[in-house]
Amino acid sequence: RQALRSAVNYTIFNGSLDKECTRHVSLIAELHHAIEHDELRLYCQPKIQFDTGKLCGAEALVRWQHPERGLVEPDLFIKLAEQAGMITSLTHWILEAAFRHIYTLEQAGRPSPLAVNLSARDLLDPRLAERIRGLFLTWGIDPAHLQFELTESALMDDPGGALATLNQLKALGVQLAVDDFGTGYSSLSYLQRLPADTIKIDQSFVGAMIADQESDTIVRSTIDLGHNLGLHVVAEGVENRDIWNRLATLGCDIAQGYFVSRPIPVEQFDSSWHATLAA
Ligand code: C2E
Ligand code: MG
Ligand code: MG
Ligand code: MG
Repeated sequence: RQALRSAVNYTIFNGSLDKECTRHVSLIAELHHAIEHDELRLYCQPKIQFDTGKLCGAEALVRWQHPERGLVEPDLFIKLAEQAGMITSLTHWILEAAFRHIYTLEQAGRPSPLAVNLSARDLLDPRLAERIRGLFLTWGIDPAHLQFELTESALMDDPGGALATLNQLKALGVQLAVDDFGTGYSSLSYLQRLPADTIKIDQSFVGAMIADQESDTIVRSTIDLGHNLGLHVVAEGVENRDIWNRLATLGCDIAQGYFVSRPIPVEQFDSSWHATLAA
């Protein structure tokens, strides 16, 4: 009922037609089914260190293997899950999968950090940190192998509550990264208050930096800002060699993007990336 009401509110708010509304409600039911019946898939995208060229971790990116629609990208269902009050169970599914993955790598003797995206709603859940603490007790993995990515907008709704959650997570020993950096509203003031270790420069700046002088300047300034604040700087959306070379020249720490690899299924990630490293 709650999910239905959110969907209806959403549709009315957006002034859509009845047909849209029906589609939304049916999507919500389908997503609910997907979480319960294991239709979600964990994909991973590697992160590479510029100076060594070595793998230094990966980002967990969820997909929905829909029986009729095929592989559905997160942009199409994360918002819906938030609005329909399902993000908590979706995040829980992803966390389980992430802990299992980190555990497997640790057991195989080739540990590597994995970053999980948290949504704004997750940060407002007062039980999130406690649940994650429980997962650490269950799996016994090294907290240094888990990272969380959050966008600046995740802090907009309830800065105090979100910050409290982040401090609790930080106290567990995990790493925190500010995602899509530069696209939020209050980058600098939030950055100052956040217990962050890393900033990820948004791919819109990175993708445009070769053709557009201003984007290049923004990327360069962000790298300097991050370093001056003692943070690691990741560039996302590294799509070609020119971008890679420019970022390397500017002293960026870590690259993520199609030039290195697209996100791939977690099972394939284990064999193709970690096996080569171990060799
Ligand atoms: P994000 O966290 O900023 O993730 C980066 C997105 O950029 C991913 O899209 C990735 O596939 C894409 N990407 C990576 N390299 C390149 C590149 O070189 N060029 C271009 N054009 N794109 C690249 P994806 O997987 O579709 O995810 C979209 C967004 O959905 C993510 O943005 C994140 O905000 C959200 N998301 C994904 N998985 C989760 C999740 O498990 N939980 C939550 N709460 N959000 C998630
Ligand atoms: Mg996408
Ligand atoms: Mg991310
Ligand atoms: Mg991003």
